Amino acid sequence: MPKIYSYILSFITLITLSTCSSVLSVQSPLPVTAQEVAIAPPASEVPLPKVDYIFLPPAPELGKTEYARKDITEDFSLREKADIAVPDPKLLANDNSLVIDLALITEEDYAFPLPGAKVISPYAGRRRHHSGVDLKTCANDTIVAAFDGIVRMAKPYAAYGNVVVIRHYNGLETVYSHNSKNLVKVGERVKAGDPVGLTGRTGRATTEHLHFEVRINGQHFDPNKVFDLEKRKLHTTCLVATKTGRNIAVKAVDILPHQRAGEYQYSYVGIPVSDKNKKINL
Ligand SMILES: [Zn+2]
Repeated sequence: MPKIYSYILSFITLITLSTCSSVLSVQSPLPVTAQEVAIAPPASEVPLPKVDYIFLPPAPELGKTEYARKDITEDFSLREKADIAVPDPKLLANDNSLVIDLALITEEDYAFPLPGAKVISPYAGRRRHHSGVDLKTCANDTIVAAFDGIVRMAKPYAAYGNVVVIRHYNGLETVYSHNSKNLVKVGERVKAGDPVGLTGRTGRATTEHLHFEVRINGQHFDPNKVFDLEKRKLHTTCLVATKTGRNIAVKAVDILPHQRAGEYQYSYVGIPVSDKNKKINL
């Protein structure tokens, strides 16, 4: 019996010693450098983040943004009703540039002009004379308005055949040509996706197709800057149209959400490029 007691005693002694040594090892201070001390202040002295560290304005929720529409009317001049390439005197009256932010145009506010169509001839082309893009599906297919707007011209017009020209609230004009039949009249207000004509081969055309143009101030430019013609979707870039002498140079520019929020005031229509936002890379 006494032997057992001595065993128990020695076991307890062992346990106690090992526990003490582990406690001692934990409590023994580790070597700390001066730098570590400097960057680890007591928790109570950690400064709170200042509220003014956020310097970017919040981006607007795209697609839910209200925008001002350009003030266009159906009071077209005789020339506006008779010709395709007609400058809009009000469009660039106050500034040399026009910004159209395509990212702020919602799904309901645009339509691909010939749903399901394939490109059979690109803009410019090999001889650089092609003023639009040729889109093909089948004969007498329905052509629709690309955006909301007012029909400025609807008639037979030389090589264009039956043509419809629409002036849009966003500063663009679109042209739909070679139609077997026009379905709208001058002065008619149309919504994006409304039928405006049927595909045909009137004028100078060798097959039934839609010759589609986009124009700013009467001057055509590459429709591929507005629509992704492969995916038949609107691009999300910003179009910047700038007067260069008698011509208009149109560039597609990527802008950051904070630029869109801060510089463009949530609007995509007809905003002059002021000195303030010329920092955009053109
Ligand atoms: Zn064409």
